[in-house]
Amino acid sequence: MAERPYIVGNWKMNGTRAMLSEARAIDRAAQRYMKVEVAVAPPYTLIHAVHKEAEQIGVGAQDCHAGPEGAHTGDINAPMVADAGAKFVILGHSERRQDHAETNECINAKIESAIDAGLRVILCCGETLETRDAGKAEEFVLGQLKAALPKFEDPAERLTVAYEPIWAIGTGRTATADDIAAMHGAIRQLLVDTYGEEASAMVRILYGGSVKPENAREILATPEVGGALVGGASLSAESFLGIVVGA
Ligand code: PGA
Repeated sequence: MAERPYIVGNWKMNGTRAMLSEARAIDRAAQRYMKVEVAVAPPYTLIHAVHKEAEQIGVGAQDCHAGPEGAHTGDINAPMVADAGAKFVILGHSERRQDHAETNECINAKIESAIDAGLRVILCCGETLETRDAGKAEEFVLGQLKAALPKFEDPAERLTVAYEPIWAIGTGRTATADDIAAMHGAIRQLLVDTYGEEASAMVRILYGGSVKPENAREILATPEVGGALVGGASLSAESFLGIVVGA
């Protein structure tokens, strides 16, 4: 396992330039918590500005188009976010899968384009409550990953997986530590089967879904949890740093 926990704020469709003061505060505090790797993914419109503010934290995008530049009104591709200062991109988030009908195959193409542009990828997966209640959560999540995982040989530097049960996102509900440990263990085994023991050992598996300062310590202490992908609680420096401090 990679030794430093990785705490990533996903700002989603939130933030104007007024949010830059939060980014500054996060960055300054992160300089005092070097044992934690801290990053934020602001909306496209703020990537460059946050990148210019950031001395310590990583800056990423929340999505990218899979193709080369061209006639795609409103889209932004991987080389463009890299040029703006992004070092990573979140792909396959359940909100993209739901709101934009993204398939595993489309996500796989985005991953390939992101890697080609020199970006690291946080690949998200997660099941609905119906799937979990039907006892099919593991099969479903592993199926998502099998279809989307890229076929490269050295994933350590380039890939992070984020397990985010859809029913826990923005709802205030979190999975139990046992559920998280079981799913992360299954994901770890898939990574070993896909990339081999040694190459996959450094790939972190983040947990996401209503992570906040009050529950972060317990979640982050769960076996195979290498960090957290944080939505709502990343929008204020105070609550986000409450998670960083507990990591
Ligand atoms: P949440 O979102 O922390 O607001 O539940 C997490 C995510 O969707 O990445």
